Amino acid sequence: MRIGKLGSALIVVALFAGSLYAFREPISMAVAKRVTAQRMASNPLKDLPDGLHIAVCGAGSPMPDEKRGGPCTLIIAGQQLFVFDAGNASARNINKMGFNPGLIDGIFLTHFHSDHIDGMGELLLQRWVSNSNSQPVKVYGPEGVDTVVNGFMQAYSLDQGYRVAHHGEAIVPRSGFGAQAVRFNTQPFETSLVFEAQDTQIHAFSVAHAPIHPAVGYKISYKGRSIVISGDTTPSVHVAKAAAGADVLIHEAMSMELMQLLQEGAKTAKRDKLEQIMKDITDYHTSPVQAAEIAQQAQVSFLLLHHIAPPLPLPGLVEVFLKGTKDAFKGTIQVAKDGDFLSLPAGQKTIKTSQRF
Ligand SMILES: [Zn+2]
Ligand SMILES: [Zn+2]
Repeated sequence: MRIGKLGSALIVVALFAGSLYAFREPISMAVAKRVTAQRMASNPLKDLPDGLHIAVCGAGSPMPDEKRGGPCTLIIAGQQLFVFDAGNASARNINKMGFNPGLIDGIFLTHFHSDHIDGMGELLLQRWVSNSNSQPVKVYGPEGVDTVVNGFMQAYSLDQGYRVAHHGEAIVPRSGFGAQAVRFNTQPFETSLVFEAQDTQIHAFSVAHAPIHPAVGYKISYKGRSIVISGDTTPSVHVAKAAAGADVLIHEAMSMELMQLLQEGAKTAKRDKLEQIMKDITDYHTSPVQAAEIAQQAQVSFLLLHHIAPPLPLPGLVEVFLKGTKDAFKGTIQVAKDGDFLSLPAGQKTIKTSQRF
């Protein structure tokens, strides 16, 4: 039997693959050793230009979604790290993007629906032990933030004792455990300054998420660049007003057309209560076209759709989700996924997009 050139090449590839398979354990160990050391030594903040940056640490909603954890937005202002909402995959996604949760300077909550706080326990632990912090992290929010923070503090108080007993005060100082609630008030139609330090201002403003009160959005400004986060809301003049002239609007979005599909599915399956829930949740969110209209009204240059509901497991569904938005908004629109990264260098008008996963 004659073996042609192609046959010989295939045999060489097969032998090579076979030897790789035979040595997979030492090869994997060598790679893991190198990558682990690199990751632990790296500080991605050093490589970023001075400015504002958005790292999506959770682009989803309460509905399970493979590509999107519960709502979480990491904002980097200069060398400061702020987390807006702490959905279920927050700590894991922040780590996965290469950032150290131990360096978080503050957490801001938009409201206290469970999907916005599910990841708080894990995030507070990581923030404490990853940098031997001796002060609790401040968690900012409207009325109710004390209840949430105190609840987590109580639920994790036994864990606090275990960690200190095991690693010692020098490594995990007892005083650095958990969080300290910082409550602020917001007035209708007004933005309130809730944080200011190192060229960064953070304003909060009321949004419309009835029957949930209070519910707020945030505007983050740093050296001439600005980002607005809508929080959960129906289309709101407050968001449009707060976002006027901002660089990026991060707006929640729910496709009413796809929600209709889920309602019909529940009806066919005779799951009446689920059908009712699918119907109820459409009345306190914003459709992608409505978010696009607000972005146009506010004259922002970039609209990042966030808190994506329902999940979009098939590629064609992203097009369904975006249907009509291009006519409503002339700037750039992106449907957020976990790991998405936007850079807004200070002193420029540019917005550079990338992916950190
Ligand atoms: Zn939500
Ligand atoms: Zn909500």
